[in-house]
Amino acid sequence: MGVLTPAGDGAELGPGYHSPQVDVAVRLNTNESPYPPPPAFVAALAEAVAATSFHRYPDRRATALRAALAELHQVRADQVFCANGSNEVLQTLLLAYGGPGRTAAVFEPTYALHSHIARLTRTAVAEGERGEDFLLDLDEVRRVVAEAEPAVTFVCSPNNPTGGAEPAGTVAAVASLAPGLVVVDEAYGQFAPWSALSMVDDGGRVVVVRTYSKTWGMAASRLGYAVAPAPVVAELERRALPYHLDAVKQAAGRLALGFRAEMEARVAAVSAERARLVAGLAELAVHAWPSDANFVLFRPRDTEGHKVWQGLVDRSVLVRDLSGWPRLEGCLRVTVGTPEEDDAFLAALAEVLDR
Ligand code: PMP
Repeated sequence: MGVLTPAGDGAELGPGYHSPQVDVAVRLNTNESPYPPPPAFVAALAEAVAATSFHRYPDRRATALRAALAELHQVRADQVFCANGSNEVLQTLLLAYGGPGRTAAVFEPTYALHSHIARLTRTAVAEGERGEDFLLDLDEVRRVVAEAEPAVTFVCSPNNPTGGAEPAGTVAAVASLAPGLVVVDEAYGQFAPWSALSMVDDGGRVVVVRTYSKTWGMAASRLGYAVAPAPVVAELERRALPYHLDAVKQAAGRLALGFRAEMEARVAAVSAERARLVAGLAELAVHAWPSDANFVLFRPRDTEGHKVWQGLVDRSVLVRDLSGWPRLEGCLRVTVGTPEEDDAFLAALAEVLDR
């Protein structure tokens, strides 16, 4: 094998992440916000861009951004770590706490990148099963953590792609059972009835990961962060590349926090729209799972999920096809869009299902 051969045969990486970027009119496949940030945010960012010293490296410690996030969450700035999307936060966590000889625990079906990034960082993956309702089953958590002694245990709440948020008692129980870090992925946290942020403390093992990609309507900015015990943040900083957060991104993240009321109004609007979408699915006699997020998992017919997905694409509506996933046979996931987008989705689905 020559030096041009990658380490490992790549088989351990599996198929990776693929949510196809198909060119359609209605895109409801990646759980983004259907609304862009307010125009006043864009104006403030334009001003910040104009004032940027582009010939200089950005603030390596992202001081202003971390201070603003610390204030938002009532924590200290040394308990905040920022990166290029929450995926990079997850990767940095696994670079620091995973790696050869270590294990990460995941409970399937869940966000595919947890196990994928574990494999990328050569961390072994211990897979447990979620319960009937797709929430965590503490007996199963007990079994997996006793067998695998994971250095990192992932809890996705609300869980992507199934939608449910874990009760606070479950996350507290996982934190007392797991021997290593408990990473609570709250990418959809603003839609949930509670947050594990209050469980983060310097002597503890809970890390909460959040993103600007969903509720803040800033997927294009690629910005996410962890709220974590200060010693964990220090370890993450040692693994991040120098100047990994560009100046425009830092400004965008800081300025967005000045528009919190607008963001919360959007969360309320999307939640109300989710109820309408779920009612529309019920009218089509399609089974949908309860959601605490900005998407809904549904099963149109038992086995024909992929055909339904294709039928929707043919009508210029893109949703996420999960029909090939274990335990999600025939399932699709739709992101809550604008009322117009959701009407287009429901009309296309009614046609495809011949209802
Ligand atoms: N966690 C979960 C549960 C997600 O669904 C996503 C986005 N699909 C992410 C993390 C990654 O988001 P980003 O990298 O855009 O912050």
